[in-house]
Amino acid sequence: MKIYLNDQLVDADQAKVSVFDHGLLYGDGIFEGIRLYDGCVFKLEEHLERLEYSAKAIMLNMPWSRQQISDAVCETCRANGLQNGYIRLVVTRGVGSLGLSIKNCDQPQLIIIADTIQLYPKEFYENGLPIITVPTRRCNPAALPPTVKSLNYLNNILAKIEAQHLGFQEAIMLNDQGYVAECTGDNVFIIHKGELITPSASAGALRGITRDTTLEIAEELGIPWREANMTRYDVWVADELFLTGTAAEIVPIVEVDARKIGDGKPGRITAKFLEAFRRRVCVEGTKL
Ligand code: PMP
Repeated sequence: MKIYLNDQLVDADQAKVSVFDHGLLYGDGIFEGIRLYDGCVFKLEEHLERLEYSAKAIMLNMPWSRQQISDAVCETCRANGLQNGYIRLVVTRGVGSLGLSIKNCDQPQLIIIADTIQLYPKEFYENGLPIITVPTRRCNPAALPPTVKSLNYLNNILAKIEAQHLGFQEAIMLNDQGYVAECTGDNVFIIHKGELITPSASAGALRGITRDTTLEIAEELGIPWREANMTRYDVWVADELFLTGTAAEIVPIVEVDARKIGDGKPGRITAKFLEAFRRRVCVEGTKL
């Protein structure tokens, strides 16, 4: 396997970063998870724009142009002979001294891994997933904005541990006001009385690329949508519920906190979204 590291492709066993990299020492860096479908990198421009916004938010000056990163992503996929897969793009603050200051971090590091994807089991889509709300709250946007896709994922990891400890695959995280923010690695949508509703970024949701695509699909299908604060009650009484994310795509949820969603089976409108999503990924994107 070939990994892109800084400005070149290297063998995976040669792709090494320093123990003094602040990405490792402090989670100081940003990343993107991107899908490759049939030789097309889905929404690459949108992912690179979000990466630039994340970099700006944490004051990390990336020395590469968007085109250079885009070319590097495609080159890495080609070098690994991939037509379908998952791309992990990581930018760390780089090597510095011990201590939080970024003053000695002169050179951010760019890492691109392109690999085959471990798809979620088919049953997730056919039968839907039961999930729970966990006690760990999503970071307050005034502390670390969840809109920054940073390497600091401990908040989400703690929530995931809590869910898995109780036998669930995913968890709803509330914000510090008690409204639904998102799941540990996915955005949340409900369908209620024919309307599609999702928490806003200010409620603690990442501006997911799949979330944006879902909103585009809603327009296309003529389904009204809005962003709104959502309580657990709103989730429990929803007609349908689904999660969106690059790896997960669109996953139906059939139970939350032991309450059945709708009739406890994947929703009819959710299925329409998944179908429309899968149609889009094959035709949209940056060709390798
Ligand atoms: N929320 C979180 C916390 C995430 O990590 C992700 C990405 N896995 C998402 C939402 C979904 O974003 P996207 O659709 O861009 O993958």
